Amino acid sequence: DLHKEYRRQRQMRIRDRVDPDLPTTNFIHQIVRTDIADGKNAGTVVTRFPPEPNGYLHIGHAKSMCLNFGIAEDFGGSCFLRFDDTNPDKENREYVRAIQTDVHWLGFDYTNCLTHASDYFDQLYAWAVELIEHGKAYVCSQSAEEIRATRGTLTKPGTPSPYRDRNITENLDLFAEMRSGKFADGAHVLRAKIDMAAPNINLRDPTLYRIRHQSHQQTGDLWCIYPMYDFTHPLSDAIEGVTHSLCTLEFEDHRPLYDWILENVSVPCRPRQIEFSRLSLDHTVMSKRLLTTLVDAGHVTGWDDPRMPTLSGMRRRGYTPRSIRTFCNRIGITKKDQKIELSALESCIREDLERIAPRRLGVLRPLKIIVENYPEDQTEEFTVPNHPGDSTMGTRTLAFCREIWIDESDFIEDPPAKFFRLAPGREVRLRYAYYITCTRVIKDNSGRVTELRCHYDPDSRGGGTADGRKVKGTLHWVSARHALDAEIRLYNPLFNIADPKSETNRDLHDFLNDESLVTLSKTKVEASIEQHSTGECFQLERLGYFCVDPDSTTDQLVLNRTVELRDSRPRTHTS
Ligand code: ATP
Ligand code: MG
Repeated sequence: DLHKEYRRQRQMRIRDRVDPDLPTTNFIHQIVRTDIADGKNAGTVVTRFPPEPNGYLHIGHAKSMCLNFGIAEDFGGSCFLRFDDTNPDKENREYVRAIQTDVHWLGFDYTNCLTHASDYFDQLYAWAVELIEHGKAYVCSQSAEEIRATRGTLTKPGTPSPYRDRNITENLDLFAEMRSGKFADGAHVLRAKIDMAAPNINLRDPTLYRIRHQSHQQTGDLWCIYPMYDFTHPLSDAIEGVTHSLCTLEFEDHRPLYDWILENVSVPCRPRQIEFSRLSLDHTVMSKRLLTTLVDAGHVTGWDDPRMPTLSGMRRRGYTPRSIRTFCNRIGITKKDQKIELSALESCIREDLERIAPRRLGVLRPLKIIVENYPEDQTEEFTVPNHPGDSTMGTRTLAFCREIWIDESDFIEDPPAKFFRLAPGREVRLRYAYYITCTRVIKDNSGRVTELRCHYDPDSRGGGTADGRKVKGTLHWVSARHALDAEIRLYNPLFNIADPKSETNRDLHDFLNDESLVTLSKTKVEASIEQHSTGECFQLERLGYFCVDPDSTTDQLVLNRTVELRDSRPRTHTS
């Protein structure tokens, strides 16, 4: 019946999402499972992914999404995509749109579950008034510096504000006037009245509202006071019926405040905050603030530069959503520091592409070969498989003629002992085509090899010979008359040290890798690549996985190398 079919389809979607070899259990799963067993929250599970629209999403956010959407999916609950948009200074529509695109691309469905903290501004305001009425919040007229200076330290209690004992009526009037736009930015704030001597600094009368005369990308000029994150978050969670509010460890110290807000406001339910550690990846930075500086300073071409750890950068580079989800599931959820090597991510990418990427031929640094005994005006077509291990991926045709390109690195005039590719007098196999023997080397005045002359064996069509003669080298090649010119962009890590953020007294930009982008402008690739759409990956045999970059025009094909075929990087450390 329909319900069963729906369940089956959903199970299949889960299986497709999660690496089948991995049991999805982590400490948060255990908590949720126990809560359900104990009948908490009437057995429901509601989570949320709450990005602030002040930048594009990165792979750290992917970890959070896989957790939040994954838990909802695993336990038959729901997950909200909630824009945490309480800070109009840094937020904008472009980011909102980009985030939605990325969440959808990664494979998560937020239909009917798309919200904004700003949707709740009226309710939040009403709850702030409620706190004032109960003597639990007051309007403080100290400056931001004074408030900071009187907060105390870890060892010293804070000093109460001179405005702490303002009476309720005065507080209500002032707060209403703050809202109506009577005061300039910074003139007053609304603070919770908790405990200036609390060991946890977050409880020392934290600010709940501030005045900010600034248009908001969602609410326009409706408001000139905006609620703080610590006030907004627990209440938005409560409004949405969130049962498990999963966030990163830096919010652990805020949990007592999270709970205080929920205890002191008449909320409809009691979400529980649980923290886990952030993902950090070697050789890159993850905070949106730092990524913004890279974009603004022009060190990358934009948020979607394929070197960026952003989801849009990874998409442009050819990373698949499935491989990113596999990666996130594989690294797991704990409270321990999580520093992951790039190679761990790349091996997930490779694993997926190995399976799904059709094979193609191309040369990065072309060297011309003229096959002298091949008829000048002849062209042949070879029908070759798209994937050696998967016949369902079909075949394509490769054109062959008298002039072909091979890779410069596949020829050495005076080859060392273990070099089995082309050399003067040597015979090699051209993949899918013929055996050729190098008969002559042509050089320019400086002695650089500019062209090779070869002879082919007409009996070796398809790669074998009548006499069963063996050759050791097989080269990739393209037909010079049929190949497409392409610009190929090779990528290396953005930073040349593993943890650029750890060098706190140095400028981040000092550690940028000069060779993070290597552009090869004169590459040659087989003609079928023209049929690939942007972002779709294929393997150039022996060279790696590539995809078509959106910079491509009708005159100029631009390809990105997604990842090499093998990890060629020296190991930096073990994790
Ligand atoms: P950033 O410093 O990159 O701006 P953020 O935490 O300020 O990160 P938010 O937009 O507030 O960014 O993040 C939305 C959600 O994603 C939060 O729940 C946050 O905890 C989570 N998140 C952000 N970065 C990471 C990360 N590196 N690893 C895991 N989760 C993350
Ligand atoms: Mg943030």
